[in-house]
Amino acid sequence: MVETLKIEIEHVKRSRLPEVDFTNLPFGKVYSDHMLMADFRKGSWGGFRILPYGHIPVSPATPAIHYGQSIFEGMKAYHSSSGEAMVFRPLDNLKRLNISAERMCMPVLPEEFFMEGLSTLIDTDRRWIPSQEGASLYIRPFMFSADEYIGIRPSQDFTFMIILSPAGAYYSTPVRVKIETHYTRAVQGGTGYAKAAGNYGGSIYPSKLAQDQGYHQLIWTDGKAHQYIEESGTMNVMFVIDDTLVTPALSDSILAGITRDSVLKLARHWGMNVEERKISVKELVDALEQGRVKEAFGAGTAATIAHIEVIGHEGVDHRLPPVEKREFANKVYKELEAIKRGTKPDPFGWVVKM
Ligand SMILES: *Cc1c(COP(=O)(O)O)cnc(C)c1O
Repeated sequence: MVETLKIEIEHVKRSRLPEVDFTNLPFGKVYSDHMLMADFRKGSWGGFRILPYGHIPVSPATPAIHYGQSIFEGMKAYHSSSGEAMVFRPLDNLKRLNISAERMCMPVLPEEFFMEGLSTLIDTDRRWIPSQEGASLYIRPFMFSADEYIGIRPSQDFTFMIILSPAGAYYSTPVRVKIETHYTRAVQGGTGYAKAAGNYGGSIYPSKLAQDQGYHQLIWTDGKAHQYIEESGTMNVMFVIDDTLVTPALSDSILAGITRDSVLKLARHWGMNVEERKISVKELVDALEQGRVKEAFGAGTAATIAHIEVIGHEGVDHRLPPVEKREFANKVYKELEAIKRGTKPDPFGWVVKM
């Protein structure tokens, strides 16, 4: 049994809210007035506190900076018509944070602490949840080693934080993706299934090369022979081939997306054929050439569904059917958005009100 948390709150002297243009919010640039912070010291979590958002003192010798001992999560809250914050599947984010923590030799965070910290922070900055059509509050929990020691060994001290960023409507124009067959995001036995900092740092350069070639994003393939489709690096990928929804089966080199899981649950609920299995690059390219790939999309918290317009492979661009014709992706997008905002029933109990 854990007793309820005592969370100290230090309020800002003056809110920055009046300065924010909620009709023009670029992703990840504006942060709310407050942040949550907690310390792991001598084997237990404590010091949960809410303080004004701002810079934090960090030792220059912290392993988080030198060795990437740092993990994060991403989720969203929406404004309900009755003024509550509706948070989408936060317990699943916590579960995943703790899976990442174990892989990175970091302490797990108990559910009570996570939920109490999150709800107190959201309550403190409730006015920052945008109510504009399509807008949301992006929630970024993260944890990093706070030791002052540059030897490589399991750390002893850690910091857990949550910051909040109001996000405008995400108009996802269809994306052009390139199947990456040289660089690797994650390998068997590696950290790809963890939301661990280093996975992203290493993917920026290959992504930039693809952008220089006119693509928006990569589809990563397996690190061994680049023969199998993995995921997109911030999104999982899915295809409707003939009439079946196909997505790569989870493995230790693929991040288990909560959007991915939500899409699969809805598809099965609707009686659609669903296959989670290996998809080879060859199978996909053949199906593209035969016109059997009716839909392709990325699934992740930022966009929910990002339609894929073009898939590039070894210099050849394969164009997909127009977005208006994509029955499944459009339907599942609408349904998920409606569940998240509480305008449709939530049959799976995904939304937590705070
Ligand atoms: C976060 C993330 C996703 C998407 O996960 P969601 O829980 O749906 O947001 C997919 N792939 C990677 C590598 C990610 O980091």
